[in-house]
Amino acid sequence: MNILVADDDLAIRSLVGELLSDEGHNVTLAEDGEDALEKFKSQWHEIVFSDIRMPKMTGIELLAEIKEISEFTQFIIMTSHASVDNSIAALKKGAFDYILKPFEDLDVVIDAANRAMANLSAIREQQHLLNTLSRQNEELGTLNMKFRELAIRDGLTGLFNHRYGENRLAAEVDRARKFKRDLSLLFVDLDHFKHFNDSHGHQAGDDVLHQLGKLMSGAARDSDTVARWGGEEFIVIAPETDKEQACELAEAIRKQVADFAFPFADKQPLGHVSLSVGVATMAQGVDKPEDLLSLADKAVYKAKEAGRNRTVFCQSELDMEDITAEDEE
Ligand code: GH3
Ligand code: MG
Ligand code: MG
Repeated sequence: MNILVADDDLAIRSLVGELLSDEGHNVTLAEDGEDALEKFKSQWHEIVFSDIRMPKMTGIELLAEIKEISEFTQFIIMTSHASVDNSIAALKKGAFDYILKPFEDLDVVIDAANRAMANLSAIREQQHLLNTLSRQNEELGTLNMKFRELAIRDGLTGLFNHRYGENRLAAEVDRARKFKRDLSLLFVDLDHFKHFNDSHGHQAGDDVLHQLGKLMSGAARDSDTVARWGGEEFIVIAPETDKEQACELAEAIRKQVADFAFPFADKQPLGHVSLSVGVATMAQGVDKPEDLLSLADKAVYKAKEAGRNRTVFCQSELDMEDITAEDEE
């Protein structure tokens, strides 16, 4: 260990220096506080033995300076019986220990150095543990975030899952009702998907669902929530979106999917992979999640009836509009 010994009494600093050198330490001697500080600055020392009363700079001042530079350095005060009070003050300021002069036994010096070394290694161990802990804590935090993300995602499509969609819909309906904002819901169902699976296998069907997830999140806006509602059914929750905008969004999704070159698309009954979209919007009497879901579901049913690959808006059971047909007119 590097040990600095500061005492203006030559006999004492030589004695202490010799004792510690004999123990195998690398010892530097200093004749006053300033000298000690200078030597400390040019070489770091694990342990400092210091007298209290010294010219130019006292041991207490030296202690403060050294603690500024290196909080881990172990500072041991060497003091006479007369100034034990000063030693107590030094302990309060961060000194590790004090020993009394004249030394009744030379072992006092060695013992103090040994205690300081043991303390240092305990501090290092603790520091190491703290570092490990904080690293592990960070890793846990990242894992936690990943788990939370996994818990709300559908594994196949990467879209939000049913539970998340349901919670989100409830929250958005509440918000729209409370602040009188627009809110629309799209219900999406793949056309003739059983036919696709039966013809090309379940894996090919899964690939379609996966690709569909990408297309739908691409077409939706950042503020929309796209969730896989079940099997080949999806919902899009569209806040701040009125009937017209919602039908536009539905048509954009529908067209993108119909135009996409899915493998085996031409083997589908309609000549492409397609979907039917039902749209509902919050209005008087349509102000609960189940109202929106039920109207959008009815609209999908109507779209299927009308030939599939279309968007139908449902105001009420008696008031439905085939948006795709209107567009084609
Ligand atoms: P429609 O146009 O009337 O909606 O006809 P459809 O064949 O799409 O409807 P139906 O409800 O009869 O069949 C849905 C099919 O979706 C049944 C099932 O094989 C398929 N499906 C549901 N979930 C999955 C899935 O996770 N992976 C695959 N590959 N297929 C699925
Ligand atoms: Mg279905
Ligand atoms: Mg279907």
